Amino acid sequence: MEERKKTAREIIEGYQGPPVRIMEVCGTHTHEIFRLGIRKLLPPQVELISGPGCPVCVTPVSFIDEAIYLALEKQVTICTFGDLVRVPGSQMSLAGAREKGAKIHIVYSPADAEKYAKDHPEEQVTFLSVGFETTTPAGCLSVKQAKEDGISNYSLLVANKTMPGAYEALKGSADVFLYPGHVNAITGTKLCEELAKEGVSGVVAGFTAKELLTALAVALARFQEGRPFFVNCYPRVVTENGSPQAQKLVEEMMEPCDSEWRGLGVIKGSGMRLQEEWSAFDARKKYKIPPIQGKANPACRCGDVLQGKCKPSDCKVFGKVCTPQHPVGACMVSGEGACSAYYMYGEAEKMK
Ligand code: SF4
Repeated sequence: MEERKKTAREIIEGYQGPPVRIMEVCGTHTHEIFRLGIRKLLPPQVELISGPGCPVCVTPVSFIDEAIYLALEKQVTICTFGDLVRVPGSQMSLAGAREKGAKIHIVYSPADAEKYAKDHPEEQVTFLSVGFETTTPAGCLSVKQAKEDGISNYSLLVANKTMPGAYEALKGSADVFLYPGHVNAITGTKLCEELAKEGVSGVVAGFTAKELLTALAVALARFQEGRPFFVNCYPRVVTENGSPQAQKLVEEMMEPCDSEWRGLGVIKGSGMRLQEEWSAFDARKKYKIPPIQGKANPACRCGDVLQGKCKPSDCKVFGKVCTPQHPVGACMVSGEGACSAYYMYGEAEKMK
């Protein structure tokens, strides 16, 4: 009789291979793995570490300072995703700036921000554009729309980043990358295949329980074979070539630039900025923002958390001074942040 194949859960629970560190590159994976209780299935030699894939978390303090400069010094209305409002800047957060009279408007997309600008011609409006390959096309589309609408009161403060530089900087920090499925849906899988040839193993994972269990089971099974590997475990969404339309749009409107990542420092060519042709929509050029050196709270270890060098619970202010109500660093604010996941799913309670 044919032997029954093991389920993904059985492979994970029964793993008897060598110790392995798997990096959840994407903050949504961190949260989903906690929420679904998958961590409880892992044998002790399987360690999950967080990575730099939360857009709000990797955005440096200086970006918040730039936004506050626009809001308070130039009286620009800031349109932003809600998470960014409570991220501490050097002196204050955008929430603090709002108390000092800054106009901060929460939106759910760059298109909302462009519409707000169109509906409020008396205001100068800047959208805080953060995120990775997944969100950059939407920012580009909003600029195109502003041009079509003939409005000149809309701009982007761009801190968009691309993942290849981060993978390069993170080489050696984990045995297996759990690649972010939504980024790969845009970029395709060629880079991951190249990384596997260079000795960096990884699997692309989706976001449902079944997809995450499958990706982890495949990662563990392949890791035991002892050779670098890449497997696309999210084929219903991720293809080899990704989305050519999204890639073309970004190529037409943006160009690579050096970019500062919280914790990783400046990574050459890892950021995006609007091309010269679109400079009227570039808030840094439009408002001549001076260079700003951000200062993070010295107690905060977000930088180490984002590189998998420590767990949120290793930070001495975790769950004490730093909580979701009173965040000290970005990783406790964001809905995708590792510190907020650890806090929400009881790690702070365990430390009492
Ligand atoms: Fe930063 Fe708070 Fe996380 Fe510590 S617990 S690393 S202070 S966000």
